[in-house]
Amino acid sequence: MKRRVFSGARPTGRQHLGNYLGALQNWVSLQDEYDCIYCIVDVHALTTLEDTSSLQEDIYEMVLDWLAAGLDPQKSILFVQSHVPEVMELHTLLSMITPLGWLLRVPTFKEKVKIQPGNVNYGLVGYPVLQTADIVLYKAEVVPVGEDQVPHIELAREIARRFNNLFGDTFPEPQAKLTSFPMVLGLDGKEKMSKQLRNDIEIALSPEETLERVMTAVTDPARRYRNDPGHPEICNIYRLHGHFNPEQVDDIAVQCRSAEIGCVDCKTLLAEKINLALKPFRERRAASAAKPKFVKEVLADGAQRASVIAKETMREVKQKMGLI
Ligand code: ADP
Repeated sequence: MKRRVFSGARPTGRQHLGNYLGALQNWVSLQDEYDCIYCIVDVHALTTLEDTSSLQEDIYEMVLDWLAAGLDPQKSILFVQSHVPEVMELHTLLSMITPLGWLLRVPTFKEKVKIQPGNVNYGLVGYPVLQTADIVLYKAEVVPVGEDQVPHIELAREIARRFNNLFGDTFPEPQAKLTSFPMVLGLDGKEKMSKQLRNDIEIALSPEETLERVMTAVTDPARRYRNDPGHPEICNIYRLHGHFNPEQVDDIAVQCRSAEIGCVDCKTLLAEKINLALKPFRERRAASAAKPKFVKEVLADGAQRASVIAKETMREVKQKMGLI
């Protein structure tokens, strides 16, 4: 039997280069080797969203990105978290065995408190417990994520271990799986690329919009004038050349250090390379966007398949916890 993969993303809008390079590319490549489940975690989105009026549209846009990136509903289960409500039941049960201290120490919780001090809700603290419920409900062993999520997966392992110790072997301890680009910085060159921080480049942008966004990126702050020598090792644009432009990246380092190439030329070249790499993705996306009914069918079918597994796990969990 194939080992199981689970991962998810919050439907906070269209996917950006961080999601794509840090997670989505891995999701696509794991589909043949593993039994994969990919989830649009709409309930998780509520931890940071106060206005939910665009949630349905955001879910739709996200599925378009996923299908265009190469997720295949014939091979993988694609579904919306709240369509399989057993996860919320399991979240409550797991919350009873999770010490609060574990959750308050999580780095992403501390970051969110800084970003949204006026909305430090109960769900935000429990985010990793709900994430654990997502993973263990499907008894997944491998969780492909970006680097920012690694502490959450560590916590999921601890919660799974604790459940197994208390109630008997039930859940595999899940393991994070990273890509070769597990942390993509945002256009500010400081924080991780994130929708919420508005420092992102969406993969579904047009070539012109992509160029416009890339042009706003912060590069080496020491290069104030065109003839100042640069330090590619600290430049986010240079790092992205490493992924999108591997043939020229070494030359760019030399040309940047000697000020032979300026930041504007360097960014223009990067935008060209990103657009070239994403051309097939954008064409496939336009094709799926013309079939909105298909997207609905994919999600309905995914929820039905996920639900069968979820119900079986819940029966086992409740029995082991003495609830039935
Ligand atoms: P966002 O932070 O933009 O809301 P999510 O939290 O929904 O994105 O993340 C979805 C997936 O994309 C996760 O596996 C996460 O680790 C990955 N990811 C998000 N941002 C980045 C980034 N800047 N670099 C690498 N991976 C990322």
